[in-house]
Amino acid sequence: MAPPQTFRDDRQPDSAALWKWVWASTRPYLGYILTALGFLALIVGYLGVSREVYVGRQVPYIVSGGLVGVALISLGSRLLLIEDLRRDSGRLDRLEKAVLDLHQTLLTRPDEPVPGYAATHQLNGQATAGKLVVVPGGESFHRPECPVLEGKPSKRSVTPETAQRRGLHACPLCQPLVAGV
Ligand SMILES: [Zn+2]
Repeated sequence: MAPPQTFRDDRQPDSAALWKWVWASTRPYLGYILTALGFLALIVGYLGVSREVYVGRQVPYIVSGGLVGVALISLGSRLLLIEDLRRDSGRLDRLEKAVLDLHQTLLTRPDEPVPGYAATHQLNGQATAGKLVVVPGGESFHRPECPVLEGKPSKRSVTPETAQRRGLHACPLCQPLVAGV
């Protein structure tokens, strides 16, 4: 009696999963294994050549041992390289995500526009029109009274033209461009 059809169907995915697991767990070492086998083939080929006195009988050893060895070594090192790249790209993805997260937290906390702040400071802006302040190394320009500048040891006042030429952007908190600087 032949086994029922369903019995075979049940086993099919199991063995597929097993082979997938085997492949996933040996893939990182496959490069090493192939490279080692390649060196082994080279050594065997070399021993075969050195034992044969006649050149004509050395050729099969050179072909089988030498070529197979070189092919295995190059295949193995390529697999190692691919595995390396795969690991690297995973690391890069994680790093990029971490930097993005950090960037978001840094950006949303101190620079979040406080409701009403810009409106109440527009009058001050008119009084200090034309004056912009930057912190060396900073990426934005501010009004002189901007709270972001508090406690910063070195500030420099710049003209709007200079700020623009350096590619700086207006601070979202004090909004130095709102009152027509
Ligand atoms: Zn500011």
